[in-house]
Order: sequence, then structure tokens, then C-alpha cells
Amino acid sequence: MSQLKYCQGPKCHTYDTKDRKKGPKNNKRNETRRRSGFYYLDNNACSMQCQADWFDVYGSRALQHFGYLTQPRVLSADNAWRKSYDWHSSSIDGSSNRHYVYNHLTEERRPITEQQYDSDNIITDDGRLTI
Ligand SMILES: [Zn+2]
Repeated sequence: MSQLKYCQGPKCHTYDTKDRKKGPKNNKRNETRRRSGFYYLDNNACSMQCQADWFDVYGSRALQHFGYLTQPRVLSADNAWRKSYDWHSSSIDGSSNRHYVYNHLTEERRPITEQQYDSDNIITDDGRLTI
């Protein structure tokens, strides 16, 4: 059985729904939702509203913590590579040139092997080609 955890939305308890109601008739209260899993905020918020509430309160603090961009990030020919796959082409002899890397800035296209396509190492996380 998975562990229950609380929604991290700072205003979760203020939304008036039946499942948030706790306590006896003479002492009703609403509580933060508690579940084994959530769909929002990377499994930490029960609703888009709670996710937005979290961001309103903590978003700018998170930016301060992790650091603001102080200069633009740049996409150039060097870091514009992506792997891709052509569903339609295949040759009669079974060899394949269906896999390729594609530079979405220059539109250059280079064939790669299926093994290269399956590898996580031919394009870096920031889009640079290593082959
Ligand atoms: Zn919530």
C-alpha cells in the first residue's frame, strides 16, 4: 500500500468540497487533501488550482533559489540537433536509412544507424551533436 501524502497547495483546505470535510457535526473543518498520488506539480498537487496557488506563493522564491537567467539562451546551428525517424522510407534489401539527425535551424539532415538512434549519447541534453 502506497503512502498517503498531502497536497502541497497552500490554499487546498480553503476549497469547499465534500472530500475535504472532516470532524464531527459540531466541529466541522476542511483539511488539505491527502492521497497516494496527484496529477499536478510533479505528483504534489491535487488540482491545477492548487498547482497555480503553489506557484503564486513559491514560484518567485524558487527562481531566487535556482537563479534567474541574466542573459539570453541562444539556439544556433551548434545546438539545434534532434534525432528523428522517417516512418515511410525503407529499402528493399532491409537496410534502413530511416533514422537521422536533423538540425532544425539549418535544416541539415544526416543519416544515422538505428543503434545511434537508440543511443542517448549522440545528442547532448542541450542539443549538441557528438558524432
Ligand atoms: Zn490541493
